[in-house]
Amino acid sequence: METCPRCQSDNVRPFGRGDLFLLLLVLAGIFVWIGFYERYLWIVSVTLIIISPVAFVFPLRFRCKDCKHIWKAGKAKTPAH
Ligand SMILES: [Zn+2]
Repeated sequence: METCPRCQSDNVRPFGRGDLFLLLLVLAGIFVWIGFYERYLWIVSVTLIIISPVAFVFPLRFRCKDCKHIWKAGKAKTPAH
């Protein structure tokens, strides 16, 4: 299990590509919904859908719940795999 390189806590959470991808799609969905009332917000929704694959380019990160430190996977003592 990954531990925080700053405070050595194991109370860490993957801050990953899938999360970011889902977040972008959920936001896009929300803007589609709002877009029924405010048409210009469709542009925001389309933009979010277009950029959502960018989430998979981002390196996997971890976030410490104790000290809020965010770091890239593989920098800690124990590799992710
Ligand atoms: Zn920490």
